[in-house]
Parts: sequence; C-alpha cells; structure tokens
Amino acid sequence: MRHLRLDQAGEIQAWLDERAEEMATLLESLVAVDTQNPPGRNLRTAAQVAAEAMQRLGLSPEVINLAPTGALDEPTIVRGAVGSGTRLVYFHGHLDVVPVQDLRQLQPERRAGRITGRGTADMKGGIVSMLYGAAAAREFDLLRDGQIVMHLVCDEETGSAVGSGYLQASNMIDARGLAMLTPEQSGGAIWNAARGALTLRVTLSGREAHVGQASRGVNAFEHMLRVALPIEAFAREMARGNRSTPMAADGVPKAMIVVGGTSGSGASFNVVPGSAWFTIDGRYHPQEDIGSIFVRLREMISETARQVGADVSIEVLQEAQSSFTEPTHPAALLLVQTIGAVEGVVPRFEMCGGALDTRWYADLGIPAFGYGPGRFDVSHGPHECVDEAAVRRCAAVYALYVGQVLSG
Ligand SMILES: [Zn+2]
Repeated sequence: MRHLRLDQAGEIQAWLDERAEEMATLLESLVAVDTQNPPGRNLRTAAQVAAEAMQRLGLSPEVINLAPTGALDEPTIVRGAVGSGTRLVYFHGHLDVVPVQDLRQLQPERRAGRITGRGTADMKGGIVSMLYGAAAAREFDLLRDGQIVMHLVCDEETGSAVGSGYLQASNMIDARGLAMLTPEQSGGAIWNAARGALTLRVTLSGREAHVGQASRGVNAFEHMLRVALPIEAFAREMARGNRSTPMAADGVPKAMIVVGGTSGSGASFNVVPGSAWFTIDGRYHPQEDIGSIFVRLREMISETARQVGADVSIEVLQEAQSSFTEPTHPAALLLVQTIGAVEGVVPRFEMCGGALDTRWYADLGIPAFGYGPGRFDVSHGPHECVDEAAVRRCAAVYALYVGQVLSG
C-alpha cells in the first residue's frame, strides 16, 4: 500500500504543476503584506490573505484573533483542517518575516521560475507548499480516516511565545498527533533537531557622579566588564567540540554564545555611569538542558557581582527549548522515503542552528520535522528567493507524506 501511494508522486506533481500560476500569485500576495517582525505589523492582514486561499482550497480556515501584546500589531492565528477522524498530521507555518535590508524586498519579483522578496524562503513559499500539499492530499484521497490540521502563527521570528504559546496553552496541539511538518528553509535536508535559545539582559547598578567628583561615584560600567569576563570564558568552554554525543558530528559545538551583542551604559561621557547593561545570547545543543544553563549563568553573574559589590538584575528576553526527533523514528523514515520519491535523492538529517517551532510538538512526543522549499543560505538575506518548482515539489512531498503516515 505504501508503495502504491508513492507511485502517485507523478500524478500529484502534474496536478500541482497545473496550479503553478495560482501558487505563484498566492506567494506574491503573501510577500506583498509587510509582516516584518520586529516590529510585527499587518499580522491580521496576512492571516486574512492566507485564510482566503485556504477557503478557496477547501481547508476550512478559522481566524483566531489574539489579545494585543507588546509590539505585535493584531496577533492572529489561522487554523485549518481537511479530512476527519482522530488520526492527525500537523502542518505548521509562520506568517511573520525578519526585517528587510531594502524596502524593495517587500515587492515580490517573479522572473524565470523564481520569486524574489522577503519571506519567499522563510517561509511564505513554504506556506504555499503546505496549503497546496493539504489540498492535494484531499484531492488524491490520501487522508482515509485521518486529517491534516494546519496552524499559521504570527511571531515565530521573535520566539513564538504569542502564537504557538497560545496553541499550547489552549491545548490545540493534540499529543496523539502522528507527525508534524513545518516548511522552514531546510534546503533539501530534514531538520530533525534544533538548538534551544536563551537570551538574557544583565543590568548592573552603580552610583552617578559628575566627572569633577568622580571618586564619589560607583562605576557600573566597570562592574559590567568584571561580570562579563567569566561569562566570556564560559562561552569559550561551551564552544568546544561536543564529540561525545552520538547525534553530533565531530566538532559540533555544544553551544554558541555571544556576550555583549548589545550593551550600553551611562547618561553622558562626563558622568560616572550609574547603570550598565549587556546581553548574553546563546544557542544550545539539544542535549544541553537550558534550565541548568540558566541556573549556572545566574550563579556566575551573582557571584562575580557579589565579589565586586555590584547590584545586578537579570532579565530573560527569550527562552526556547531545543527540539529533537530520532532520525530512526518510523515517521522520520517515511519522510526520507517520501522525499526520495519526489526529489530522487536521499535527504540528510541536520540540526537547525536556530530555534524551530518543531519544539512545541516534539515536547508532547510528536515526531516533528522542518522541511521546506527554501534555501538556508538566502533566507534572511538581501536576495531572498525561492524557486517555484521547489515550492510545488515540496507541496507534493507534504501531500504524499500524509498519505504515507495515515496509511500506516
Ligand atoms: Zn522561519
């Protein structure tokens, strides 16, 4: 039966190729909505564009308006479904994009089978793949007694706490889900693992004094330097190769930490700074426990601050758990087979260098993978683009994969 399903690869591809124009048009209309995050504007408008397309494709969209929060402008989730039954496969995407380098990136350009613009690779092109993949799965009767549930969230680029956090808090992710796919720009690989992220802002307080009476002040900048030094040493220690773990290739760092990516102090050059702050941003291997890393960082900071007699406060700007699904999991092997049937190559498994929304599903025990039509090396850059044929092939992978998982 599985073999038979994969034999449909050619037919499904042909069905998608007939829809090349409407798929390109949908991608262009998604790119044309400026969803740069930060700051996170026009999120409801983008959700409406996606929901209208889902309506046309028979994917029963429901637009969920979330309470305003922080800088996000009208945070919104789109949830859709096709098929019925309790056997679930999740497709998950995000409508926000990283800030542009040039405003012209918000005007999509279609040329020679390629669409250029912000979000084409990460991941509005992927959203087109997942929606048309779901439509093809229904068209080719691949759903049987199962269904695809689709989620489009609004703030993945700034940590997902609002959109995916809502899905989690509202129990909208069923732990019985058989698999989850998110069309991130994996460039032909399968992202079965993603690093966790922890971003801290450390603020030291001192006492202001005019330069003429500098000896009366307490220099918070000096405190900051002394607190930051041991953290930098910790960063070097964590960056050493992690050769002992079975999933890591030789030389894969345990963690990548940037100390002082942003920093600041003082009111003026002629005043002893009364406060100083710096950030610590880390990306951690799935085998590292972010909770204990946080405890260790906090202890190091508090200990040094105590030694130098400084007041310190620590703010968590971002915390995202890592994510990992075994590459030998049956759902992973089915994905390898499916990609092989469409692309004609055996994909490799990779760990994504950043955080992925797979974690919201993997946390519940659902095998979760990043796989999309975009390339990693162009996403977030000034020449971000996606090949239209790659978007259609990825849609075929999504459709066939559902057939594989639900026929098991
Ligand atoms: Zn993305």
